[in-house]
Amino acid sequence: MTTTFGGPNRFYDGKGRSGARKASSEVIKLIESILPPDARQSVESVYKAHNLANRAHLRDETALDMVQGESRRSVSVEISDDVPPPLLVILESLPEGIIQLLLRRREVAIAEETLALVATSASAIAEWKPRLEINAVLRAEFQHVQGYLGALREALDEKNLATSILAIDGDVFGAYFYWQERVELYWIAIALFASLRGLRTEDLTMVVLTHELAHAYTHLGADVDGDRWDTEAFAQSDLGVVEGLAQFYTDAVATSFRERFPGARTAFDALLKEQSPAYTCFREWGQIVRGNTGEPVRAAMIEARRGAESDYHTFVRRIDEAAVRLSRVPQVAPESLGL
Ligand SMILES: [Zn+2]
Repeated sequence: MTTTFGGPNRFYDGKGRSGARKASSEVIKLIESILPPDARQSVESVYKAHNLANRAHLRDETALDMVQGESRRSVSVEISDDVPPPLLVILESLPEGIIQLLLRRREVAIAEETLALVATSASAIAEWKPRLEINAVLRAEFQHVQGYLGALREALDEKNLATSILAIDGDVFGAYFYWQERVELYWIAIALFASLRGLRTEDLTMVVLTHELAHAYTHLGADVDGDRWDTEAFAQSDLGVVEGLAQFYTDAVATSFRERFPGARTAFDALLKEQSPAYTCFREWGQIVRGNTGEPVRAAMIEARRGAESDYHTFVRRIDEAAVRLSRVPQVAPESLGL
């Protein structure tokens, strides 16, 4: 992993206030018309209900605080009507006229399955309601339509929109604008993906909110010495380090929330099955340490924040070294010090 988290090719790198592109294109209007009418409200309500608790969990998990003595940082969150540029590129490249079908791939599959169910239930239906008997002509028509729907579904799968969205090598459901110290949540992207994968918009929102705030805490949260991550160094860190840390703490928060908000865990796990290596690499860290990863990962993060080399390979080695260091039996027995 040699790509950096930030840089001029990232849309969230801007020092000005420009965010994602305005959702003015025809394709976005079409998508909005298909999404549930309350999708924006669902995203907003999750943000309002969980913003503070979410930040408190991140503060506990990272042991980093936005407030340190007189020094205070604040990160705003905005629900944006825009669509991030990498997603807009994908959406605008879709074949014209079949976008609605691509968005309704699940419904096509359900229609195919329902038709098969009706056909296999033919004798039961005829016995129950004789006027609904499926005669030979109708049966043949069913088979034709079922075959057609199957072929259509396969064609739609070749152009799998959800997979294309997750293949984007960067955040796409939300973004952390590190120079501006603010977060944008893209409700259209969230609701679209939730609909494609049969997830709840609320659950996916919770994951995205946590992930973006985790970026903010790992960057701007102060440690006990009052140190934060230098913004230029943060942006230049390997994608796997910065995204790995955001995912590591999102995972921890999703676990903390599992009683109150079990759907966050479901949505997070569903994403992990398909996400690119930068978003899943944090799972290797647990295998390296073979025990509690919280403190070793935090120690490696603190070293990276203090200017240590933060390429992915070095970062993982530091987790390993920290794990050994933290588990080492003290050289001097406490009794010998009169403790
Ligand atoms: Zn991220």
